[in-house]
Amino acid sequence: MSALLIVEDEKHLADGLRFNLEAEGYRVDIAEDGETALDLLTAPRQDYDAVVLDVMLPGKDGFAVASELRQAGQFVPILMLTARGRPEDVLRGFESGADDYLPKPFELAILIARLRGLIRRREWSRQDGKGASSATAQDVSADDVYTFDGKTIDFGALQLRVGERVVQLTLMEADLLRFLIKHAGKAVSRKAMLEEVWGLHEDTDTRAIDNFIVRLRKYIETEPSSPRHLLTIRGVGYRFVAEPDTA
Ligand code: CA
Repeated sequence: MSALLIVEDEKHLADGLRFNLEAEGYRVDIAEDGETALDLLTAPRQDYDAVVLDVMLPGKDGFAVASELRQAGQFVPILMLTARGRPEDVLRGFESGADDYLPKPFELAILIARLRGLIRRREWSRQDGKGASSATAQDVSADDVYTFDGKTIDFGALQLRVGERVVQLTLMEADLLRFLIKHAGKAVSRKAMLEEVWGLHEDTDTRAIDNFIVRLRKYIETEPSSPRHLLTIRGVGYRFVAEPDTA
């Protein structure tokens, strides 16, 4: 049975969600504020498979909770509940380490489908790359292992290995990397990244993409300030180059 934590201070909403998710066979706990959620999720031997995290919470908000969890090395999948019509919240959510988002009010069936997706992806990572096959750039898919220039990305385990160093990626970081790798050698616009990676169609501040790229460069570039793999294409967006020396 999968275990979920719902972080939501509106009691009727949290209770309603618990009722419905329990009916779907989940074990469900509720935290009414961010501090409680952090305590529960960073406790030893906690076994949550996913977190439903509301942005609007008393005290610490959902963004702070997500980023503190990630800083603490807790990579449980987070589905963030955002306010409708506020795409900037979605981007802030991704920046703080959320894996997916759902604007309020939402349909229960959609929430359940999103949670299933997150838990399934997380389960692949627990299999430790089992069954993963190595891929070429064009067909790199969700559980593949992709190697370039001495670095290895395990999309199933959400891990990037550079020599002895292992970086844990969020689902969003992995999705963005995969998208860039799929289009290796070609310029990809910020708009395409927002739409095709994150499903954002609104006029959104595309600088969020730039912040993600800064982070990805820290992971994969020897010198993030003079990148060789994630190149800025002025006026367009970015281009991934796998083997810069031979390009
Ligand atoms: Ca709330």
